[in-house]
Amino acid sequence: MTMNRQIILAERPDGMPDATHLPLREAAMPKPQDGQVLVRTIYLSLDPYMRGRMSAAKSYAASVEVGAVMEGQTVGQVVASRHPEFAEDDFVLAPGGWQAYAAVAGKTLRKLDPAVAPISTAVGVLGMPGFTAYAGLEEIGKPQAGETVVVSAAAGAVGQVVGQIARIKGCRVVGVAGADDKCRHVVETYGFDACVNYKDDDFAEQLAAACPDGVDVYWENVGGKVFTTVLDLFNDFARIPVCGRIAHYNDSGAPDGPDRLPGLMGRILVKRLLFKGFIQFDYRHRQPDFVQDMGAWVRDGKVRYQEDIVDGLEHAVDAFQGLLSGRNRGKLLVRVGDDPTRN
Ligand code: NDP
Repeated sequence: MTMNRQIILAERPDGMPDATHLPLREAAMPKPQDGQVLVRTIYLSLDPYMRGRMSAAKSYAASVEVGAVMEGQTVGQVVASRHPEFAEDDFVLAPGGWQAYAAVAGKTLRKLDPAVAPISTAVGVLGMPGFTAYAGLEEIGKPQAGETVVVSAAAGAVGQVVGQIARIKGCRVVGVAGADDKCRHVVETYGFDACVNYKDDDFAEQLAAACPDGVDVYWENVGGKVFTTVLDLFNDFARIPVCGRIAHYNDSGAPDGPDRLPGLMGRILVKRLLFKGFIQFDYRHRQPDFVQDMGAWVRDGKVRYQEDIVDGLEHAVDAFQGLLSGRNRGKLLVRVGDDPTRN
């Protein structure tokens, strides 16, 4: 174990990123300094926000520098520690990036107990995506029993949790996803009342039929055609947590076509719609509630989850392309190294 393996941002992509933008290279094994911990990556979480970090466009967080290791949350195991709170073999949540080993500041780590929950859930249902669903729904969507909640990217890491929380709150939950097996899965496994494939020719008719009482909360993960279709179904005072717009992450310019902005503004006014964009960390004060509620729901089987685990750091770029094109089935993870808790 003398060399590290890492994926760096060599070039900023215009459109879909590939291995020319994100090559895999060997590098010297990092050495932890005082206060740091050397962490062996077990799981690398792949998340849509990473596409934004590859771009130079100004956003809520700084871009990754060209030549630097791609950023990302990891679940790993401590190999060597120069921080008093961490010892060899501890499992941790770390900002490790797309690499096999990382030397990271101990203060950025969180210890994980595999007896409490599978360690991979720290980047899934019990981590950032789960928290995003919880906080955005509680703080913006505010679903009331009997209301209709529509969730886009319904089978994904965030969407699957949004729908299940809305079910717990007593809502009618309608998913939107891009494959029939995803739609079946969210109905059969997560208890959604219905799910519609936005790739079907009669998507608009199917969605309207699935929402006979209109839409009170629309969880926006995607933008594009799904958004313009749901727009026709909003009830007065509908709430729209704007969580993501993945259909546009690879856009390189403004779309062709008519300017829909005046029509959208008219609808917002007449129907008194509440659109609110958010980044999950805006609601970090809700973390303790999340840990308590989601921990109990997962333990009691009220919230279930699906992980999509791809083996090998060398497959991370292909897997990331899959995330941006709908190939993933649930929370996407790359298993970079052996997980001793699953043996
Ligand atoms: P998912 O696990 O849902 O994976 C992404 C999914 O997006 C794909 O599987 C695909 O599903 C769907 N998708 C991809 N391209 C399109 C398209 N052109 N049109 C419609 N759907 C598309 O990812 P996450 O759950 O991690 O993230 C979901 C959204 O939430 C993203 O937009 C992400 O950026 C956002 N997010 C925002 C956060 C915040 O703090 N605001 C925090 C975390 C995530 P399908 O087969 O259904 O098309």
